[in-house]
Amino acid sequence: FNYQAARFLTSAPTLATCPPDSGAEVAFAGRSNAGKSSAINALTRQKALARTSKTPGRTQLINFFTLGDDTERRLVDLPGYGFAKVPESVKLEWQRHLSDYLQRRASLRGLVLVMDVRHPLSEFDQTLLGWADDKAMPVHILLTKADKLKSGAGKNALQQVRSRLREWEDLVSIQLFSSLKGQGIEEVHQRLDSWLLD
Ligand code: GDP
Repeated sequence: FNYQAARFLTSAPTLATCPPDSGAEVAFAGRSNAGKSSAINALTRQKALARTSKTPGRTQLINFFTLGDDTERRLVDLPGYGFAKVPESVKLEWQRHLSDYLQRRASLRGLVLVMDVRHPLSEFDQTLLGWADDKAMPVHILLTKADKLKSGAGKNALQQVRSRLREWEDLVSIQLFSSLKGQGIEEVHQRLDSWLLD
């Protein structure tokens, strides 16, 4: 697929308002500030595609991008979690929308979970992994900002996360990534291709 051709389709606050649930899509999730927007921009080689998602008022929305004119192949930017100082009731509401989307979206083929390589596996990252596991949904983990660590330390972090997720190794794949250096882009494209192809 031509990821460079990605463009904004629409935003939706709830599952009910998402675009038609046909074709295939891949969703990106991650804690706020983990580097999710930068990763989406790096993967599509666009400077500001995922900035749409950061426009005030849009941060709590599910944002859809199409791969060129083909609305049957989509990338989905899920709301970031864990950082915003919002009331508990609002947080619970987002979590419900996220869980609805993950549990019920038939066209969802896989989840890309973006984590800062220095702070992997937050509590909510683990909650998401649990939801994915319930649905037997494959997850590809990006340990991003890998450029912040020396290569040995990056490899260690990768091994540690792998061993903590050993029980899920059938569903979960993990790689180092850096939006800043463009490290790991090819590997992600291959994973997305495999999910979006069928
Ligand atoms: P989001 O909230 O998950 O969408 O995170 P952003 O993509 O906005 O990134 C949060 C911060 O981390 C920004 O200051 C980015 O410049 C920085 N950042 C993101 N990816 C990388 C990376 O691969 N390497 C480095 N060094 N910084 C990064």
